[in-house]
Amino acid sequence: MQFSAIPGHQDIKQVLIKAAQNQKVAHGLLFKGQEGTANLTLAISFATYLNCEQPTDTDSCGECSSCKKMSKLAHPDVNFFFPMARNENVPKNEPPSRQYFIKDFRNIIAKNPYLNENDWAETIGVANKQLSIPVDEARVIKDSVSLVAYEGKYKVVIIWLPEYFNTQAANALLKILEEPQHQTLFFLVTNEPEQLLITITSRTQAISVPQFDEQQIADYLIAHEGIQEKQAQQIALLADGNLNAAIKMIAHETDPFFPFFSEWMRHCFGKKVIDMVDDTDVFAKLGREVQKSFLLYSCQMIRKAFVMNKQVPELVKLPKEEFAFIEKFSPYIHLGNIDHIFEMLSQGYTHIERNGNPKMIFLDSSLQLMQAFRQPAP
Ligand SMILES: [Zn+2]
Repeated sequence: MQFSAIPGHQDIKQVLIKAAQNQKVAHGLLFKGQEGTANLTLAISFATYLNCEQPTDTDSCGECSSCKKMSKLAHPDVNFFFPMARNENVPKNEPPSRQYFIKDFRNIIAKNPYLNENDWAETIGVANKQLSIPVDEARVIKDSVSLVAYEGKYKVVIIWLPEYFNTQAANALLKILEEPQHQTLFFLVTNEPEQLLITITSRTQAISVPQFDEQQIADYLIAHEGIQEKQAQQIALLADGNLNAAIKMIAHETDPFFPFFSEWMRHCFGKKVIDMVDDTDVFAKLGREVQKSFLLYSCQMIRKAFVMNKQVPELVKLPKEEFAFIEKFSPYIHLGNIDHIFEMLSQGYTHIERNGNPKMIFLDSSLQLMQAFRQPAP
């Protein structure tokens, strides 16, 4: 993976490249950013750059044998560690270890390097289990850096989601970080830096990776997913800075409206008026046909929540993430408010159809929803 595959983030890329050129790369780097940011892809691209045989001022070459190995995440001097849980590939008498998962990891990163831990858990067939990085993995990390780099200039250990270390493993990692080896680097890639031990974060240099903006997400979707500009723009708007959400919408793993709908409901329920106004701006940009589809989708989801509340969840067929949301949301949709909510959404639909002002319609619906959620169940 090269820097050029990541939209935007020029400032971070330049800081990293300068550090490499001046041979001043910190022994431990903490790439921190929310889900769907470039935290992992920047770490991988930087490891590629560091071991590239012919790097330029802006990127790795992409052609040399080191870059080719990195493109398959199969460079012998760059090792990946990640959360895991026992699955059928792990022999019964052995603890889970990266060797049983690395092939899956390479495959999923090739498809979607912006994935979250739930996507990963599903990939390795442990969606209902607790992920962790077991303490034995700290020993494997130590072994992986005990030899000098034999092909590349640097040995790099990339730990994806170190927040999944249990305490014992985190302490073992701390020991390793405290004893830096020559030309050995640790890249910690976290979505939740506040979950890490302060002793770990204090031994790393933090790189804050901001969310993608709408244009960057649209550019990525056009370049990597081969979709048309207009559709890319719409999905980018709904994805709200999360490139993973956008990629999953295109793969139809979630409904394109789901992230926006769930956020909207959370804001209305939590009386977050400023966020509701932001949602209104997004809605206004969607275009009339999409606005109508969104209101219909909202009606369907509200109906599903009502059915769920009536204790017939088997009638509710939805992808996992949407099902989980509706399950939590269902207590707040009941006979005391469902008629009012439906009436309000269908009125919104009619007004949009008759060229009403989408901002006014959406904001009014948001305020009415906020009140409807306060109605007691009969
Ligand atoms: Zn190269």
